[in-house]
Amino acid sequence: MTMVIPGDWSQLEPMLDAQWIAPAFDARAADAWQKRLAIVVPYRNRQAHLQLFVPYLQEYFRHDKLDRRIPYAIHVVEQADDLPFNRGQLANAAFRLIGDDADYLCIHDVDLMPLWADYAYPAHPARLCLHGRPVPENTQLYFGGVTALSMADYERINGFSNNYWGWGYEDHDLRLRTLSVGLRVEARDGRYNALHHAHNGFTGDGRLSPAGQRNRDRFGAELAAGFQGWRHDGVNSLRVEHLGTTPLQLGAQTWPQVRHHRIRLQT
Ligand code: UDP
Ligand code: MN
Repeated sequence: MTMVIPGDWSQLEPMLDAQWIAPAFDARAADAWQKRLAIVVPYRNRQAHLQLFVPYLQEYFRHDKLDRRIPYAIHVVEQADDLPFNRGQLANAAFRLIGDDADYLCIHDVDLMPLWADYAYPAHPARLCLHGRPVPENTQLYFGGVTALSMADYERINGFSNNYWGWGYEDHDLRLRTLSVGLRVEARDGRYNALHHAHNGFTGDGRLSPAGQRNRDRFGAELAAGFQGWRHDGVNSLRVEHLGTTPLQLGAQTWPQVRHHRIRLQT
């Protein structure tokens, strides 16, 4: 099934509302905690956060009553060039590199530490984080931060757009991709502790940054054009260079179980 995405918000909003489903723990398949999870962390130049994130997440998965059963791996996907940051391309590159080694991906910001969360296999693309972010999110649309998708669903929506540079709107674009192909989305809506950083999306006086404005305009243009661009902008059109993969090393410390991929993007 494919859905027509209306260009105006008054028609789109009820469709976004209707797309959400509540997580149903009791209805889950018995193997929902046995599928292989790849946690994908798009990354560049946030070493202090990464140093906290890796041990924190490992401890979370050691102790959480349900999620401790999940066979997971952490993949740090570093953008190794001086272009503006591109979260979508890094996630797409990880999807390709991981291939058949995982059943599902969780695209995970490095600065979000799970307090109450749910990383089980997503029968539908799932929003894991809603609460605890410094800026309140639009609950109707928000699909960023920490998002889980099966490999099959990721492929079906052609992954992320490769065209959002700098900051913002690649997550809204991802959400509309799921809507376009008729997928429901699950609102797990966990609570996370957000680490502090200078914000790329807004200027000091609270206005959208130039990169944020560009990406907002790009997203608006996609919508106005009927939101068809995703078919040829994503995993199937990604052109990046994989510079190598090693165990993660941070200062003197090595994390043998954490994969560190270095990717050079192309404009
Ligand atoms: N990120 C990064 N380096 C950057 C920009 C972004 O590593 O220069 C990654 C990091 O994982 C971060 C995520 O992309 O958590 C989202 O970016 P950011 O935190 O700036 O956006 P926010 O969600 O806070 O608006
Ligand atoms: Mn952040």
